[in-house]
Amino acid sequence: MKHYDIIIIGGGPAGIFAAGFAAQQGVSVLLLEKNRRCGAKLLLSGKGRCNVTNAEEDPRKLSEAFGRNGKTLLTALYTFGVPDTISFFEQRGLPLKTERGGRVFPERGNAGDVQKVLDHFITESGVELITSCTVCKLQSAENKLTIVETTAGSFSASKFILATGGLSYPETGCTGDGYRWAKQSGHLLVTPEPALVPIHLSENWTSELCDFNLKNIEISVRQNNQTVARRFGEAFFTRTGIGGPIILDMSAQVRDALKQGNVELLIDLKPAVTTELFDKRLQRELASHSNKDFRKLLKNLLPQAMIPLFIRLSGISPEKKCHSVTKAERTQLLSLFKGLVLTVSGVDGYKKAIITSGGVSLQDIDMRTMHSKKISNLYFAGEMIDLDGPTGGYNLQVCWSTGYLAGTSAATG
Ligand SMILES: Cc1cc2nc3c(=O)[nH]c(=O)nc-3n(C[C@H](O)[C@H](O)[C@H](O)COP(=O)(O)OP(=O)(O)OC[C@H]3O[C@@H](n4cnc5c(N)ncnc54)[C@H](O)[C@@H]3O)c2cc1C
Repeated sequence: MKHYDIIIIGGGPAGIFAAGFAAQQGVSVLLLEKNRRCGAKLLLSGKGRCNVTNAEEDPRKLSEAFGRNGKTLLTALYTFGVPDTISFFEQRGLPLKTERGGRVFPERGNAGDVQKVLDHFITESGVELITSCTVCKLQSAENKLTIVETTAGSFSASKFILATGGLSYPETGCTGDGYRWAKQSGHLLVTPEPALVPIHLSENWTSELCDFNLKNIEISVRQNNQTVARRFGEAFFTRTGIGGPIILDMSAQVRDALKQGNVELLIDLKPAVTTELFDKRLQRELASHSNKDFRKLLKNLLPQAMIPLFIRLSGISPEKKCHSVTKAERTQLLSLFKGLVLTVSGVDGYKKAIITSGGVSLQDIDMRTMHSKKISNLYFAGEMIDLDGPTGGYNLQVCWSTGYLAGTSAATG
């Protein structure tokens, strides 16, 4: 049986980084990936453009995006942070650019180009890669992992790194194997749940506006007349509800609120102006369109795609002359612009989840090295750890930082 210094299970961004940086320390490294090629999920990321990282270079500020657990990431972020990620790709011929919300993407090209850099990195570092190789079982003895049994045979190693990702988008190879092994070997598992998911709504008109982008809007999550969460930015309607960055980022709060009872979303399509000011604007528009059809007035206030919906929901006849619109009708129209109410019927599951929240408990990992506190020759990296960030490149940065740290710690420790 062939023996390696380090075996890494999972050829996603975290496993690739761990493998490449470990091998650069001069140790023998085997990377095992069940798919035909590495990076199946990365290729889907950022709608195929790959939001590689976030432009926030200050580790403290970046770590705040991860909530309570964020502080544990500081060593990883100080060791390999956002500037390191950016120079890693740029030095390998992939210039990056920053877009709205600090989202960093390849300047030209797409996720495929990011994966090409990673594939080349594995090769240049001298990593031995076996693809189409599913790890089925881990053998252990005396508090140490010893052998991996795979569909391509068995291999032994002195150290092991688990980077098998979460449970979302199972077609990318993420079936929770790493969670099972971590639990079997005595690690606490924080219950995994689908996170950053689209929301289902009771309103069936969303299918009429499928994929229509709502820009610069504000959405509030409401329960028992209280605001549970609020975000400004972009969203889009889907066949069954609503998705997009601000929805994904509030989906955990929506999921938790649903456990307590009914949840509504309120869309403010004109968040830059107060309700009073927007009412004045409506009055001015109605006066200046006095003899024109109500439908014409809406052209000044709404994208074309939304006009039929607003006509229906306002209950005002499209042919009604603007001077005949009553105060009650205007008030109804105002509420559609400033607080369009949507009823949440559920949140999506793993099939549509961008990431999995929960995972191997931070209690059982020394986050200064990514070393397991339970198994003396085991390390963890990437999404399988109990860390989840919002959209905007945060989750891939976790993979680069923890992958680097796990790989170098295992190689030098
Ligand atoms: C649609 C979508 C879009 C996204 N967009 C972004 C984005 O733009 N920016 C961002 O920061 N994040 C994004 N994410 C999240 C990001 O892609 C993940 O957080 C990241 O891929 C996790 O990397 P990982 O290496 O930990 O795990 P993964 O990428 O999931 O890789 C784990 C690998 O382990 C392999 N594996 C599992 N079990 C075994 C086994 N038993 N034997 C062998 N191999 C195994 C799997 O096949 C898989 O290739 C997106 C996610 C999705 C689903």
